[in-house]
Amino acid sequence: MDIINMPDNSSQGFKCGKCGHMFTVKGKEGNCPVCGYHCNPHICTVVDTSDEEY
Ligand SMILES: [Zn+2]
Repeated sequence: MDIINMPDNSSQGFKCGKCGHMFTVKGKEGNCPVCGYHCNPHICTVVDTSDEEY
């Protein structure tokens, strides 16, 4: 798996390791808005949330 070089000042997306909800946080970790599970890159899947938005 390649390591993606992300800018520090951008938000980061997680896929919740508990309920599977995908959400964006500012910084390196945050709480899932659905179930409240505390996500960090070790326990939740990090998803690419570059500048591209639909
Ligand atoms: Zn969740």
